[in-house]
Amino acid sequence: MKPLSYSQIALYQSCPLHYKLQYIDGLKTKGKWYFSFGSTIHLCAEYFFKVRTPSPPSLEKVLKYYGEIWLSAGYQSAEEEARYKDYGRQILTKFWEVHSADFRLPVAIERMFYVDIDGIKLKGFIDRIDKLDSGGLSVVDYKTNKKLFTKADLENDLQLTLYQLAVEKMWFLPVEKLTLYHLRSNTTCSCAARSEEQLEAASRLVLEVAENISQNSFPATENQYCPCDFPEYCPYYIHKYSGIAPELQESE
Ligand code: SF4
Repeated sequence: MKPLSYSQIALYQSCPLHYKLQYIDGLKTKGKWYFSFGSTIHLCAEYFFKVRTPSPPSLEKVLKYYGEIWLSAGYQSAEEEARYKDYGRQILTKFWEVHSADFRLPVAIERMFYVDIDGIKLKGFIDRIDKLDSGGLSVVDYKTNKKLFTKADLENDLQLTLYQLAVEKMWFLPVEKLTLYHLRSNTTCSCAARSEEQLEAASRLVLEVAENISQNSFPATENQYCPCDFPEYCPYYIHKYSGIAPELQESE
């Protein structure tokens, strides 16, 4: 079986059919502005920390890089794109101020991992890994979400749990802190590392998803993001494309 990433596991959890259409059948998703915006800001945060000596690039360099790598896909109009481009500049200027004042070289930036969980390969990229004064590690994931993360968001975030699993398998050093970094407000939202029981539960979940995929179990499951980019393949939405109404449930 091919390696699984967090995004694939999360997509399978929200709708197995969507997972199949995208990752097995290879259908292409539509470009969306928030993916372009998020990727651009991520690349700039990576550029800021990816230096060999503990002195970050100047703000001018970061903003120049931002202009060079800006991704335009998915914006509805030139005005909308210009508005977000300006907003991104503000975010990065604040990011530069906050992190230049207290700059420390990370242990790793945009680190690729590929680890084994009982025969299933888990792959991914971790935005940033820092070494804490205690000697333990801190895992940081950048997010361009609108809303600030709650305590529950942090405690239930599967991505952070899987990244802790991967980091501890790669380095044999304990992860002591997990962070979702809210880029829009430059806020560090952190919690303690997951317990052994939580890591074991996440491993079981990876194995369960892998097993379901190998059993070709791909039911359509409606969720808050419906319709996805492939409604013409979905039993819940196909009638809008073929003109055939779905069978009505008989009322009692
Ligand atoms: S539209 Fe259908 S296939 Fe797409 S996510 Fe919703 S239920 Fe799944």
